This record gives sequence, structure tokens and C-alpha cells, in this order.
Amino acid sequence: MSETGGNEDQGGRAPAVTLKPGREKPVRQRHPWVYSGAIRRIPKEFADGDIVPVTDARGAWLAWGYLNRRSQIQVRLLSWDPDEVINDAFWRNRLAQAIRARCDVAGRDTDVYRLVHAESDYLPGLTVDRYADYLVLQAGALGIDRRKAMLTGHLQELTGCAGVLERSDMVQRKQEGLGEASGLLAGDAPPSQVEVQENGLRFLVDLAGGQKTGFYADQRANRARVAAYCHGKEILNVFSYTGAFGVYALARGATHVTNIDASIPALELGEENLRLNGFDPDAQSESLAGDAFQILRDWRAAGGPHFDVIILDPPKFATSKRSVDRALRGYKDINLLAMGLLRPGGVLATFSCSGLIDAALFQKVIFGAAIDARRSVQILEWLHQGADHPVAVTFPEGQYLKGLVCRVV
Ligand code: SAH
Repeated sequence: MSETGGNEDQGGRAPAVTLKPGREKPVRQRHPWVYSGAIRRIPKEFADGDIVPVTDARGAWLAWGYLNRRSQIQVRLLSWDPDEVINDAFWRNRLAQAIRARCDVAGRDTDVYRLVHAESDYLPGLTVDRYADYLVLQAGALGIDRRKAMLTGHLQELTGCAGVLERSDMVQRKQEGLGEASGLLAGDAPPSQVEVQENGLRFLVDLAGGQKTGFYADQRANRARVAAYCHGKEILNVFSYTGAFGVYALARGATHVTNIDASIPALELGEENLRLNGFDPDAQSESLAGDAFQILRDWRAAGGPHFDVIILDPPKFATSKRSVDRALRGYKDINLLAMGLLRPGGVLATFSCSGLIDAALFQKVIFGAAIDARRSVQILEWLHQGADHPVAVTFPEGQYLKGLVCRVV
């Protein structure tokens, strides 16, 4: 069934969300968001969550999208084709296209990856991660929330997965006028820990209770890159979560890994992950629970310990435009502290997943930290989110994860 009621009476005569004069350019350039400030009129017969047509101020066709008056982004755009019929087959095709595109990532040795990356997969607001036989769905927009049962049905059929779990417990949902929603959407409930493989390494993931959807698959390629610097080295893995960077490092011949995280359950699962890969957590690692800033400051005051490789993968410090300045100070502080704890010639692998801070600005932060730490810092590599987290060129906001591998002298 078509949700848009056919297209025969489109083209300005039918009711449409109408933009203010001069506000159509980003829409014509296929940016998927229409902010409230760009909109002149929303016909009252449209309900939030509906698929609605959007026209420019003179009524000329622009796009289809789903409406949510309660959001700052009042329309999220789905199609620029006036003849598109947004029905069951439309959704299924979009999902199938995203799933097909993952064949380069998925393989015998990797069964944890992002299956659907929202706006950048032309499905605004929908995130789906695959964890072996299970899928975890996040609905970040009302238009998706309304359709999640239908989308789940297609996902089950297209992937043959055993079950689909929802983890729509992101703060971002508040901005859509939605509460938190978690639970089983379809199929079998996953066990409390699901075992997945990433580049042949094994990890346990708590799908129901872990952070985000359970695992940070966006760092897959970067874990492998950073591990290449770890042979014979002592590693400090700050903001370790369940220790994935450390597992890679030991697999590439690191002598010892110290994991720091504020979450005790994450650190405990990290020790399980070491055992699962044949390492001895007591002999080859240490887990420190606490505030990373405080632990590193205490070490600086005490004059050590020092490490050969330090990995910094903090949570998103910049969550809104207003918090960017504070976030920049946080990134600078933690990097400054880490530089002081590296042995001469050591390697710093430093990341930021704040979309509001771009790669150029992040590099400036590292520059500032290097000056204050009185260290010479060379950039060896620029890193990004993995290929299963694509960035549609029409949606540069989709680029959020960046990292630098630096040599610190
Ligand atoms: N590197 C991880 C992902 C890190 S996510 C991986 O590869 O899987 C960020 C982590 O930082 C989370 O596990 C969170 O618990 C932790 N965290 C947040 N604030 C912290 C703080 N002030 N001190 C220590 N850990 C913190």
C-alpha cells in the first residue's frame, strides 16, 4: 500500500509543506534535513510521522519526506522523485540496498558491523547494527519509530537474522518528542552476551545493556591500523570500553595492555574478551576503573608510569553547539596528559567522535596540546570511521569519527 496516496495530483496543487522563499537550495542539493526555520507552511491535515511532499515557495516540486513538527528538523527527506511511491517495496529496496553494500565488510572473520547508517544510507533516522545472528535497531526519528514494526519485518526477511532488538535509548529522541524505547522487536531474544568476530578476533557483546547498540564497530579498521604499532610494546588504552583496541594490540604482539574506563561492567567484559582470545588478563593486562582525566593527572603528578603506545578514544564530548568550547578543552587536556606519559618516540592514537568538531579543528587541538606539552608531534596517519559507516556526500554531517596516529618525541 502506498503511504503517499499516489502521485497523480502532485506538482503544487495538492497540499504540501511549503518552504520560505530562497530556502530551497539545500533541498535541491539533496541535503536530507529541512529545519523549521526554512518552512513557511505545514498544512494542518498532515499528521506528524506522515510522508509529505515538500515544495518551494512558489509550489514547485522538491521532495518527499517525513514530518515531525516537534523536531527542529521538521522534515527528513527520503526521495526527490515526484513519481516515487513510498510503499512497502520502497522501504524494502532501501534496506536491501544498504545490506548489499555491506558485502565488502561482512565476511567469515567479521560478523559485527553497521547494516544501515541512517541519513548516509538514505534512511534518515534509522540505524541498524548486526551482531552475528542478531540485529539491533535504533529509531532516531518519529518517521522511523512509527514504521519500526514494518522495517523489522523486512530486516528479518532480508538478513535471516534470529532476532531484532531495539535500543532506542538515545537522548536525541527527546528532540523528536519521543521517549526511550528498548526491547525485543521480533524473533528470539539474544543471550545476555552475544559472541561476535571482528577481523578474526572474538568479542562478547551485551546487546541489551551495553553502550550504544553494544559495540563500537566504527573503529574496526582503526583497531587494526593502531595494532600495527604495538608489537613488543606496552600499551595504555584509555576509554577502553570492553577492551577491543587492547585485544588487537596483544594479538599483534604487545607485551602488556592497561585499560582505563569509567564503567566497571565494560572492564569486566574486557577481561572476558582477553580470555576468549587466548590471553591471560592477570599476566598481560591491567584494568583501572575511574575517571581517565583524574588517573592521568595523578600519574603526571607521580612522574609515571610511562607507555610506548597510548590510545585515546573518548566519548562524544561535544553534544551540542554550545558545548563545543568545553569539548575542545577536554580533548586538549586529555591529549596533553597522554603526551606527557609517552616514552620518547612513543605513539599516540587519538580519536574524536564529536561530529561538531571536524578533522581540521581536531588537528588544531592536537597542535595546541603538543605546544603545551612541549613535545614534537608528527602525524603518521589520519583515520576515519569504517566503510560500514559511509558518509553521503550530500550529508557531510555524517562524518563524525576522526583520529590521528602521531609520533611523540
Ligand atoms: N575504545 C572503545 C570505545 C570507547 S567509548 C572501543 O574500542 O570499544 C568511550 C568510553 O569512555 C566508554 O566506555 C565510557 O564508559 C568511557 N568513559 C566516559 N567518560 C569517561 C571518563 N571520564 N573516564 C573514563 N572513561 C570514561
